[in-house]
Amino acid sequence: MKKIVQELTEGQWRDAESINFWTLDRGKWCECEPCKALGTPTDRTLLLVHRLRQEMDRAMAENRLKRNVYIFFTVYHETITPPTRPLPEDFNYDNCVATYYPIARCYVHALNDPVCTEINARYAKHLKNWTTDPNRYYPQTFYMGALPFLLLIFSMIILFTSLVHFLILVFEDSLIKKD
Ligand SMILES: [Zn+2]
Ligand SMILES: [Zn+2]
Repeated sequence: MKKIVQELTEGQWRDAESINFWTLDRGKWCECEPCKALGTPTDRTLLLVHRLRQEMDRAMAENRLKRNVYIFFTVYHETITPPTRPLPEDFNYDNCVATYYPIARCYVHALNDPVCTEINARYAKHLKNWTTDPNRYYPQTFYMGALPFLLLIFSMIILFTSLVHFLILVFEDSLIKKD
């Protein structure tokens, strides 16, 4: 945490106005009892975010950090479900903001289109749980993130494999004709 603050105050992030606080995709979460007692990966991530914000607040109070820096944390993979317990009372909701990345969502349908039962339905459910559940523990700003470049990469892979497949068929066809 101190290292991050150091980067923000005098390191390569000294001009950053926000940081994306992302844990590893499908990372390994410690299974020891004290860690498990802290809750789900979402609960633990929010505690980490809170801890970082405390460190940043301290740096701001000491005038080492001379601007506000937003923390955007991800709602994604293992943190896609909302927190299961109350957040620390002084959690800084104004500056620690959730960003939802429904990575494999379908773009043919709107996220909440009930027609899209195979893909978007589960993403819409998570979104609903985070944003409208009356008993939710994170009742604040919620951003939607998009990863359209992944869509582009997947499209290119499909296009490329289709092309290769097509060329193989043409090649096989020419062999058959020769025979
Ligand atoms: Zn542990
Ligand atoms: Zn769809």
